[in-house]
Amino acid sequence: MERNKTIMKLCYLQTTFYIVFLTALITRHRRGISQKTFAFLIILSLVGCAVSLTLGDYIRNMIRSSGFDVAGVHDKKSLEKKLQQLQNADDTLNVGVMMFDLNNLKKINDTYGHEQGDVFIQTFASYLTRILTEDSFLARFGGDEFVIVQNHATWSQLEQMNIQLQSMLDVYNQTADHPISYAVGYDISCKNHYYLIMDLLQIADQKMYQDKRYKKEQMAKKPQEFCRNPLAESISTESLKEKLFTILNNSNGEKKYAFLMTDVSNFHLINDYWGYETGTNILNFILKKMELFPQTLFVNRYHSDIFVAVIDITGEEHTAVKNRIIESNKQTTKEVLAAYPVNYLSLNTGIYYLENMEIPGEEIISHSNIVRIKAKDKLCGVCEYTREIALAEQKRADTIHSFKEALGKKEFQIYFQPKISGREQKIASAEVLVRWQRANGDLWFPDSFLPILEETGEIEALDYYVYETAFQWLADRREKGLKLLSLSLNVSPVHFRKIHTFTEKVSHLIQKYEIPSQYLIFEITETTYIHNIEAVNHMIRFFHEKNIRISMDDFGSGYSSLNTLKDILFDEVKIDKKFLSDKLTENGKIVLQEIFHLLKRTNKFIVCEGVETKEMVDFLVVEGCDELQGYYYYKPMEMAKFEQLIG
Ligand code: C2E
Ligand code: CA
Ligand code: CA
Repeated sequence: MERNKTIMKLCYLQTTFYIVFLTALITRHRRGISQKTFAFLIILSLVGCAVSLTLGDYIRNMIRSSGFDVAGVHDKKSLEKKLQQLQNADDTLNVGVMMFDLNNLKKINDTYGHEQGDVFIQTFASYLTRILTEDSFLARFGGDEFVIVQNHATWSQLEQMNIQLQSMLDVYNQTADHPISYAVGYDISCKNHYYLIMDLLQIADQKMYQDKRYKKEQMAKKPQEFCRNPLAESISTESLKEKLFTILNNSNGEKKYAFLMTDVSNFHLINDYWGYETGTNILNFILKKMELFPQTLFVNRYHSDIFVAVIDITGEEHTAVKNRIIESNKQTTKEVLAAYPVNYLSLNTGIYYLENMEIPGEEIISHSNIVRIKAKDKLCGVCEYTREIALAEQKRADTIHSFKEALGKKEFQIYFQPKISGREQKIASAEVLVRWQRANGDLWFPDSFLPILEETGEIEALDYYVYETAFQWLADRREKGLKLLSLSLNVSPVHFRKIHTFTEKVSHLIQKYEIPSQYLIFEITETTYIHNIEAVNHMIRFFHEKNIRISMDDFGSGYSSLNTLKDILFDEVKIDKKFLSDKLTENGKIVLQEIFHLLKRTNKFIVCEGVETKEMVDFLVVEGCDELQGYYYYKPMEMAKFEQLIG
């Protein structure tokens, strides 16, 4: 090779000599030489010039083509030589190796022939060359494998190179006949770890293999979704998962990342009011601003008005990350309001810190989605996925997924909390309250699982279970000739969506267990009433026909309390425990006295819950409270204990 280079140089030198000679000959114009000799010398120098120039070019092309592949990049031999050089170098610190595996080459070769296969490889190689820097060495390693050896490499640089490649291919794939996808693995030598450059190659190869396997598994799971994304600007969940996997799989453990999910509050209103085009322009503007956010590895529109991003947060405190996102969202909002006709815009971002590098992509996406939604309730519009949220979510999942089985296994138990008559100070009735006795021995209180079951609608089945258990208890006692007493049962708001089913079901249970109506009181909260006045009144009329009493629970905890008193059909009003929560103040007493006065004038039976002190009892009894319920007397208790208590 070196000899060829010397010959090439000599050829170009000889060409120069002929040119100089020719110029001298022409300018001195055959002084002292015959015409024949002059013509001969001119021809000689022209021929010499042409021969040496052609020879030089030939040798240069020869040098150029040796060591290069059909893809136009270095071939395996020159790669081996390059690696050998590196191996022999004194210092191999910060040498980066990126291994790429082009997918589907065999399929293209088999289906469309090798010519198309070559074009496919060349296209991929041409995109690879676009991410190179002056420190890069790109070679084709095998049939569909490429390697970039990067001197003075940094992690961010390799990440950026990969993201850049992916972004370019995303654009290319939107119109390509044969979309290009690839697997990648990369690593950087650090003196202590890599004594052999081949080790480095092997690590990158392993990572590439893992990347390939993961993407293959994903493709096998959902082959139809793996194909190109029909929406130009948005990324499919599969592609997003792949991008996340590639970043985490290649991470060196020192790097820290955060996954962000951002959306625009009430974006549909912008579309509706200002038009679809304005809406699209705003989304594009927001995306552009996000791309400029410092330390961003990638940003994509996910779907509708939701954006996703991965940012590098190495060395940053979580509060600092959160603050710069808050600031950035503020700035973007400001700029959108200045540039577009809209009067209001609010961005919400959920942050998920990628601390566990093995976490599956779908979990990252789902966790960040949860905090994106929670972010809407935060003043700053940003919410981080914390341990507390993780635990709450776990509990939520546990509740949703174990409910049906738990109901079948009778893990739900009814507890009784006695209600004491104001005048006689004796147990007059009891409220039935549900508890979840978990298989592991834990006892769950209703506030921790009922809201979740209300959301899923499964509280319906639980309420019927509670009613049936309570009715059965009353029926058993009657059969045994034991004393009966009234039971208060809570009615979830979900029943008001299917009031017909509810009344039918309850009637059926009452008939089944032959429960005398005077022993039943159904409690409906004030808030439920306010939201379903018609349906609640309908239900009350239905129960009144059966001589069953209805109580308004948590009275005073919602709004419009006084207004509700005007035309309510309720028999009983249960004053919310918040009225008694703190020490009874003079003002608190006056308010209660006036409420009692109003209730008495409208012939309502008055119950107070949350009675905790003797002072409260004394006050309530004097003011004419009909029944009292609270820890001062009894806490909710198991069935057996309650039976012992009432005899
Ligand atoms: P609620 O209907 O207002 O029930 C009273 C709650 O106050 C009960 O909590 C009870 O333990 C608590 N409590 C009673 N006395 C005192 C007191 O002196 N001080 C204080 N601080 N609290 C007291 P629990 O049993 O945890 O029930 C919470 C809520 O769950 C109930 O509030 C009710 O809305 C709902 N719930 C309970 N069981 C059922 C059920 O079977 N079906 C439906 N739909 N909801 C139920
Ligand atoms: Ca209640
Ligand atoms: Ca209550």
